[in-house]
Amino acid sequence: MRYPLEPEPEALRALTDEVARFVVEHVASLTDQPASDLEGVDSVRAGLVGPVSEMGSPLSVLLDELRPAIAKSFNTAGPGYLAFIPGGGVYAAALGDFIACAVNRYVGVRQAAPALVQIEETALRWLADLMGYPEAARGILTSGGSLSNLSAIVRARVARLPEGDLQRGILYVSAETHRCVAKAARLAGFPVRNVRVVDVDARFRMRPDALETEIRADHARGLHPFLVVPSVGTTNTGAIDPLPEILDVARRHGLWTHADAAYGGFFRLAEGGEALMPRLPECDSITLDPHKGLFLPYGTGCLLVRDGKALLRAHADHADYLQDVVGEEPGFNDLSPELSRDFRGLRLWLPIRLHGLRPFRDALTEKLALTRRAFEELRTDGRFEILDEPQLSILAFRLKGDGEATDARNAELLRRVNARGRVFLSSTRMAGRYVLRICVLSFRTHEDRLRDAIAALREEATALGA
Ligand SMILES: *Cc1c(COP(=O)(O)O)cnc(C)c1O
Repeated sequence: MRYPLEPEPEALRALTDEVARFVVEHVASLTDQPASDLEGVDSVRAGLVGPVSEMGSPLSVLLDELRPAIAKSFNTAGPGYLAFIPGGGVYAAALGDFIACAVNRYVGVRQAAPALVQIEETALRWLADLMGYPEAARGILTSGGSLSNLSAIVRARVARLPEGDLQRGILYVSAETHRCVAKAARLAGFPVRNVRVVDVDARFRMRPDALETEIRADHARGLHPFLVVPSVGTTNTGAIDPLPEILDVARRHGLWTHADAAYGGFFRLAEGGEALMPRLPECDSITLDPHKGLFLPYGTGCLLVRDGKALLRAHADHADYLQDVVGEEPGFNDLSPELSRDFRGLRLWLPIRLHGLRPFRDALTEKLALTRRAFEELRTDGRFEILDEPQLSILAFRLKGDGEATDARNAELLRRVNARGRVFLSSTRMAGRYVLRICVLSFRTHEDRLRDAIAALREEATALGA
């Protein structure tokens, strides 16, 4: 089989139709697919190892190879996926990616495609508006929250630390902050010891009084506190750190406040959502993950910076070989570590234009309501202990009891519930104890699936003698 690198239009259409059939069939069956299925994945993997071939293969053969590789995985796009932080995969985003890759225009510098850059900037402006940011705000789309947080740390460093003062620069997180923040600090050149872990309260929120005590102590040691990273939705329980008090402390001591809202930020779009994260618009920068709360495909993260000039200061540079494309207005290359990049803005712009915001708002409101109902259900079942009333769409719980035997029983409960294949939950450890989590964030998850999850937990708890 030989496909030329530039097939005739007729052949292009046939290839595209074949892929469209493959994808639509998959998406249409998502609800019936198991929530996770890794049985026999090793042999599927083994079949995918091999040397490169000089000859091409029919597309149908390749799609047949792909099908089991997709099937043998966590069904992260399905309605039963309640583990970790679910994504989604709104279909229109795939169409946006398809167009972006097929036309392959260059958006790394503004002058190469000013109107396409505008599309991405407009989409970023929408996100800034949704977070309550002023006109001067700027943003970039990243591959995810981890890289957004890395970029944020670099920006805060440029804004608040004298150049080269990495050894004395101190940043503040809590024990519930996502680990990627500490990792990013290390990657950005800060010693591990410079990341302070501030105490949390009974609801797993950073304590502003403890933050201030730590900052004062560090100042007294001659160190340079420069950044605090409150979470808007922690990974374990969905806790929202008290932004108003943290902002007050940060201002008193000249710190940059970066809100890690990767998981929780888009709940601002839900009914009553703004009240859940008061004064978010006053934070110096915000990490968002559209591949979480906007249900887009993985690889869609975002960093917003309140003062757009700070973004520019941290990243702008000059190269002689780019002299033909230097303009008045900065492009994405001036605002981010990247130069060449995909046109990822279309993945955001197309779904929002196609559907409008309303369905996104409604879906987020639904996720909050579903989580609340799951909470009510488990709370009235005396066998379960709930770690905290949900602040967003995560419910953390465990079978009551202490010690290793209870941990093991909870692990077995998770194994049994997941083995049923209808839902897929994950676990964590908090205060040294094994904890189960339900995170409701897929736009495909509705009440029926939540009821299945609760029923499975109850029945398997009974089977375990609880
Ligand atoms: C998911 C998440 C991250 C990491 O984002 P990635 O997109 O996985 O890189 C960071 N912080 C929080 C709060 C998250 O929920």
